[in-house]
Amino acid sequence: MATLYVVDMDDTLLRTNTRVRVTRVDGTTVRYNSQQYKSYVRQPGDQVDYSEFTDPERLMLTSKPVKRVVAWMRALVLGPGSRLVIVTGRESTIGIGWIVAALAKHGVVVRLRDVFAVGTATLGTVPELKAGLVVNLSRSYDRVEMVDDSVANLDAFLTTMRRVCPSVTATAVHVDQLGQMRPYHTAPNN
Ligand SMILES: [Mg+2]
Repeated sequence: MATLYVVDMDDTLLRTNTRVRVTRVDGTTVRYNSQQYKSYVRQPGDQVDYSEFTDPERLMLTSKPVKRVVAWMRALVLGPGSRLVIVTGRESTIGIGWIVAALAKHGVVVRLRDVFAVGTATLGTVPELKAGLVVNLSRSYDRVEMVDDSVANLDAFLTTMRRVCPSVTATAVHVDQLGQMRPYHTAPNN
């Protein structure tokens, strides 16, 4: 069975000391991790800076492997016609080569052409952009499995696949904060 594996990077394979910086009107700066940033409420005058996410040095120097997921990926044997791609919500301006190098540092070997960086806030949300890319990639596979720490990404993937590619089996695996992998199912009414 030809399977496409779609694996996220941040907080799925690697954890980094990367934060969104918010500078307030009074000049103070707060750094939010992606979990905290979800509940951030923008105040008038706030300046939001995502530049740490496009800083290759920070990615190379601060990344630590999520051991269980890295071990799963290294042990994965791709059958004939199967493929594994890394799909990150980071912007491609970080340079795909840096992503390949940071993963290689932790023993995850991927080719340049199997890494996609979809983040560009002007075109849509990361879950939408990831789901759209995966639908396009999935057409020549019987099965697509997405591994991601973001429930929003998994929900968008499962619902979009069900709607647009109902003949391809879509399965999802959630990676929790401890790096544990568990099958994930979207509520049927989603
Ligand atoms: Mg992630």
